[in-house]
Amino acid sequence: MNTTNNEGIIYTRVSSNKQVTDGHGLDGQYSACLRYAEENNIKVIKTIIDPGYSGKSIQRPGIEELFEFLNSRQNEIYVIAYAINRYSRDTSDYYSFKDELAAKGGILRSPEHDFTNEDPANIFSEHIKIGMAEFERRTNNQRVNSMMRERIRSGFWVFKAPAGMLFKDKLLIPDQINSPLIKKIYEDYANGKYSSYQAVKKSREARLLINLKTNRPYQLGSTFIKKVLTNKLYTGVVEYTPWGIQEVNSLNKGFIDRQLFEDVQTRIRKKPRKVYTKVNDEEFPLKGNIECGSCSQILRFNNSKGRSKKYPYYRCDNTKTCDASPKSMSRDVIHSDFTNLLKEAAIKKEVLILAEKIMEDTFNKNSTHLKGIKHHNDIKINKLTSLRKRQLEKVISISNPSVISVLEKEINKIDDQIAALREYEIPEEDLRLYKLQGLEILRQPHIAWQNANLNKKRMIYDFIFEDSLKTMNGRIGTAKYSLPYRLMSNNRIPKNRLVELGGIEPPTSCVPRKRSPSWAIAPI
Ligand SMILES: [Zn+2]
Repeated sequence: MNTTNNEGIIYTRVSSNKQVTDGHGLDGQYSACLRYAEENNIKVIKTIIDPGYSGKSIQRPGIEELFEFLNSRQNEIYVIAYAINRYSRDTSDYYSFKDELAAKGGILRSPEHDFTNEDPANIFSEHIKIGMAEFERRTNNQRVNSMMRERIRSGFWVFKAPAGMLFKDKLLIPDQINSPLIKKIYEDYANGKYSSYQAVKKSREARLLINLKTNRPYQLGSTFIKKVLTNKLYTGVVEYTPWGIQEVNSLNKGFIDRQLFEDVQTRIRKKPRKVYTKVNDEEFPLKGNIECGSCSQILRFNNSKGRSKKYPYYRCDNTKTCDASPKSMSRDVIHSDFTNLLKEAAIKKEVLILAEKIMEDTFNKNSTHLKGIKHHNDIKINKLTSLRKRQLEKVISISNPSVISVLEKEINKIDDQIAALREYEIPEEDLRLYKLQGLEILRQPHIAWQNANLNKKRMIYDFIFEDSLKTMNGRIGTAKYSLPYRLMSNNRIPKNRLVELGGIEPPTSCVPRKRSPSWAIAPI
């Protein structure tokens, strides 16, 4: 390692978001370090900031960046921080950091402590300073923890809001986008639609969940699904078992009622009674869409093996509280009943023009959800763009290279954020495709069904039917068509009245998507 060229890095850290937004934390540290550098004839070539990171751990992006930079250097370099406690607030971390830094060619400097002085009293004062920093951190934690405990005991949630909820006036309330989806997941789970977290993960509702902070979908791991399915906050109570706090009543507004919550917990605890052999989904496209007419449980499906042939069937699994008979129904009978339902749904040519208009409204309504996200994103993009512009203007007017490099890094970050937000644009051609497919669905729904793959089948189903099909005596008993079909395929409704209806208000009531309650429930 070569000796220093009197070059230095300034490192600043603030721990809380408040300090970050107030700004004086970082600025104050930076100017004190800059003054120290000038007085000691050190040329500052780089500034590293760690905003919003606690000194509890040395695992911080800024420290990583610092080490990387040192690795890339030939010469030793000064590393200036406002105070010892900016590097770390943990005694053992601090000394291992110091060793690693020295090994990489960093020389610690601080306006608050003289690292060059090897006097025993001065070395002892370094111990005292880092020891004080750790002591303050720990007592502070203790104080914060006991305050948080008190808050939770009085029914206030002190951690971040769970998916589906947000804070309003310090209380949790259901959000408009995720909570209806989560409620649907609870209902379906309680009804036996899902046999595993894995199955929930693949559900449409789970995939529509959006983290409102980042506007991105959640990472759907089994842990996440489990958290969602067992989170008591959704029922309006507050609980934090790591601190032994159980079911405190609160003023939070839950959206899952107690019975539904308990039903789901019972199902989670219950191991599946039967191990089902793996069945090809494609052979049971109505999977999840048929329920038992007596007990409302979603039918399961399987193949039973005969001597030379397999017999596919749908079946109600509820042996305790269901008196439906037969419990097993031939898949082919059910499918042919279903094809008849589709044939009945065919829409007359004369109303297809109206239909097209309604299709468009339906599409627009259905994409309200996506549009809501996009609107959100657009606002963010605008904000980021003007921030970017301001930072650029600063770069042009400033001559200090280290400040410029900090700004440039910020600008790059902003660019990344903008690019990520732009990924959520809704492609224009979607409407055209939707219409084309839609018209086929209207004219010949049973043909469209036959030609569709599994995903498209589910889409068609959602479009034509408002609810699950119900079985009765081994056949499909009742089915509820979605409103456009109820209106348009009924011969008794005179044409001109239809037009009128279409003209008045088709959109809100034309949303047949039972799998996507957010569109129906949450107008934006
Ligand atoms: Zn049943």
